Amino acid sequence: MTAVWDPGLVGEELVALTRSLGERSRDLAVLAEGNTSQLLPDGRVVVKTSGSNMRTSTAEDFVVVEVDPLVKLLATESATQADLTAALDAGEHEGRRRRASIETLVHVAAQAFAPTPFVGHTHPTAVVGLLASVHAATAWDQHVYSDEAVVIGRPLFVPYASPGLALGRAYLRGLQQHVDTHGELPTLVLLGNHGIVVNAPAAAGIEAASEMAVKGARVRQAAYSVGGVVPLPTSSVDAFFAREDVIERRARLGGGT
Ligand SMILES: [Zn+2]
Repeated sequence: MTAVWDPGLVGEELVALTRSLGERSRDLAVLAEGNTSQLLPDGRVVVKTSGSNMRTSTAEDFVVVEVDPLVKLLATESATQADLTAALDAGEHEGRRRRASIETLVHVAAQAFAPTPFVGHTHPTAVVGLLASVHAATAWDQHVYSDEAVVIGRPLFVPYASPGLALGRAYLRGLQQHVDTHGELPTLVLLGNHGIVVNAPAAAGIEAASEMAVKGARVRQAAYSVGGVVPLPTSSVDAFFAREDVIERRARLGGGT
């Protein structure tokens, strides 16, 4: 079985992160929107169940999935949405069907490139607003202030695809191109007409990049409303990224060492 329900494998840190991202005042997710995951030492991933609420989540609202079968499913052209639904099903426990989120593929895709300790996916209103606008594909092409360059690095934009297999495939292709170009996974992925995915070495990194994505959306919206964005010059951002102190600061804010 690709998915199993075992609350004993769900860490407190993951539950705390999930509840924190789901806080109403942060406006990152409402109702059953959004999901989080944590990589286990054995290579499996703990991911939020479909239909559960981030704000009130407990260890029972997660299932454990295997990465390889799901990545293979993504690569199999004949695979269908029904195959995916079956692969995410951890069966019925204590009278309830436990199935990993339909968006699980954005959590396992990163693992196909590099071990990624935490992944957080939300639908922040400020960011979705821009990602549903005429600026969606280009809004994050360039940085507009230096702290966003520090915290989120070079983001990736993935055009809209239906949640499920179609999004999983588009997402995997996007990650592949990004890794080929920049040699590393993006910390922040912007999903057209949908939301954000953050990949980070620690829960604190998910918090930091999610907050910075929201701030970046608000700054852009403000700049667009008064005539347009004047981005940071690309050459100075490249030099900035290469600075020792910036590399250190990035690692610290991302929750790394
Ligand atoms: Zn979503």
